[in-house]
Amino acid sequence: MPAAPTRSLQVITGVAAMRTAVRALQQRGETVGFVPTMGALHVGHLSLVDAAAAECDRVVASIFVNPTQFGPSEDFTKYPRPLERDLELLRERGCDLVFVPEAAEMYPQGYGTSIDVGPVAVPWEGAARPGHFAGVATVVLKLFECVPADRAYFGRKDYQQTLVVRRMAADLNLPIDVRVCPIVRDADGLALSSRNVYLSPDERRRALALSQSLRLAEEIISRGERDALVVRERMLALIAAVGGVAVEYVAIVRDGTVDEAPEIDGPVTIAVAARVGTTRLIDNVQIG
Ligand code: AMP
Repeated sequence: MPAAPTRSLQVITGVAAMRTAVRALQQRGETVGFVPTMGALHVGHLSLVDAAAAECDRVVASIFVNPTQFGPSEDFTKYPRPLERDLELLRERGCDLVFVPEAAEMYPQGYGTSIDVGPVAVPWEGAARPGHFAGVATVVLKLFECVPADRAYFGRKDYQQTLVVRRMAADLNLPIDVRVCPIVRDADGLALSSRNVYLSPDERRRALALSQSLRLAEEIISRGERDALVVRERMLALIAAVGGVAVEYVAIVRDGTVDEAPEIDGPVTIAVAARVGTTRLIDNVQIG
């Protein structure tokens, strides 16, 4: 259920001001939930605001298109930045504060620190997007320093990212509770993504192959298939039949890990990454 709208949404750009604002709320005895985003908000992001509002007294979101998590040939410059619309959506949803930092303050001159979370960041997305998870982990740690909240909310849409953030939080003893929320989809099954706006109508139709292949996997596993190779082949066949979708990987891993599960003998997550035209999409499902 959406949070009850508040009268105002406070927009903060400075790091020191942001920290002070969160500390002031906590000193009043209020708990703070934090939703980090890159903006171009959709209902998936807003579901995280709702989850934070349900568990915390105050909700802080952030909007920052983090340059260091994009590869040199990726879409950093063309990534959508509809800031006024995003602020309106957050205001309507009852978010209390939004942190919109300046790149120059987030990455000061001479900046050189980077967080390497180790093996969980290596395969799948890590292999497809070299340097991506170092960029993610570093900016998430920085955002946690700027917004010292009690809980932080992430979407399961970015399955491996949730593992990276949880690993980092555990390894560095971060005083924040990392919560993971379900994937929000359009009625036809397409996982909501800020990148869906890049898709032409024809590409959007083809993009449905991702969620359809995950549903097929779910179905054949529920009917008793245990061989991950067979599941993967069936998924790839479905995607190939739709056409126009270039698969980067289909990962069938033990749930909560990035380790391949050759036999489906316990809970698994199946994650898929593919390009539809020039748009890179990811999706996943948890089974069992
Ligand atoms: P982004 O703005 O893409 O960096 O995403 C910000 C947060 O929203 C991340 O924790 C994402 O996993 C989450 N998110 C993005 N899309 C969805 C979705 N369709 N359902 C749930 N969470 C999502």
